[in-house]
Amino acid sequence: MKKITIISSICVVILLLVLIPVLKNKPAQERKTEPASSERQNKDNIKKTTDKPPKKKEPQETVHTATVGAVGDILIHDRVYNKAKKRDGSYDFNPMLKEVKPYLEKPDITVANQETMIGGERIGLSSYPSFNSPQEVGDALKKNGVDLVTIANNHTLDRGEKAILSAINHWNEIGMPYTGAFQSSKDQRIIRILKRNQITFSFLSYTFGTNGIPVPKGKPYLVNLIDVKKMKADLHQAEKISDVVVISLHFGNEYERMPNEAQKELVHMAADSGADIIIGHHPHVLQPVSWIKKKNGERAFAAYSLGNFFSGQTGPYKNIGGMMDIKVKKIQRGNNVKIELENPAFLPTWVDRSWHVHPMQDVKTQKKQYREIKKHMNQYVPELQFSF
Ligand SMILES: [Zn+2]
Repeated sequence: MKKITIISSICVVILLLVLIPVLKNKPAQERKTEPASSERQNKDNIKKTTDKPPKKKEPQETVHTATVGAVGDILIHDRVYNKAKKRDGSYDFNPMLKEVKPYLEKPDITVANQETMIGGERIGLSSYPSFNSPQEVGDALKKNGVDLVTIANNHTLDRGEKAILSAINHWNEIGMPYTGAFQSSKDQRIIRILKRNQITFSFLSYTFGTNGIPVPKGKPYLVNLIDVKKMKADLHQAEKISDVVVISLHFGNEYERMPNEAQKELVHMAADSGADIIIGHHPHVLQPVSWIKKKNGERAFAAYSLGNFFSGQTGPYKNIGGMMDIKVKKIQRGNNVKIELENPAFLPTWVDRSWHVHPMQDVKTQKKQYREIKKHMNQYVPELQFSF
């Protein structure tokens, strides 16, 4: 018994001898992380002597990017809608856009120029020269990647107020933003805005005229006409509420492959009044794209004419159109926002006799013409890419 007590006592002593230094050391280790007050003071002194005089903190730079795509005229002749008619009497334009769907879907925002009103069957469909198209055209655009339609065109008033209002009803029903023709003055005053990747885009649309059909008295909201004073005011307002202003201009002379002086002048006016991206159409044939130098040194990008994207027109160059695409870069430092445009691209498209739209690069019979179109489109912008 005695032996056991002695052994236990020795064990307790050994245990104490081992534990005491460990317990003693612990606070010392903890102190290592926090300097003694005198030590801290020394460090502060060193800091004070080595620091530069206090400077205002530079705001951090953030960069956001988004792409904008656009296609030209969508002009639905009877031969196109008759081909799209199904047995049950409804219309299906989706097969005609199948080949270009991946491209329409690719940009963050895709804009299309819906030249013919989609007043629908209810008021009677019609073709050239006074168009009214099936509402399923709108459904197909929505389904195939279009995000906004511009509807100020020389055909806007073809079938009068009722076609415009019926079309707008449908755009609203399917949730497709539209601009250029409106339901009311109130509707006209609301500048359309889309936001992508922290970048706010605004959209405007105007036409040179309405084929001699007068705008109904007291209803100027039914179509936006090119009127420099009004456009400047709208551009100014759009600039205030968005980072990037996109303007569609339905202008130029039909079937002319180069922009005329009036187009150039208007494009420069728009750029100098705040437009960043200018989308031109109406000539039904392609006109080149161009950088536009603004008076303030910044640059805008213009497509003078995107040609016919989806139409029943045939003949030289009239079944050729295309899609432009450009990258927008928003560089923000504090409240200072700078917009830069880069990587302009253009996808030439071609419409076959079944009225299917194809990327021209995929059409075996169009190789020679495809080369010619590329040369035509990049004559002002040699770095233009032909895929995106
Ligand atoms: Zn037109």
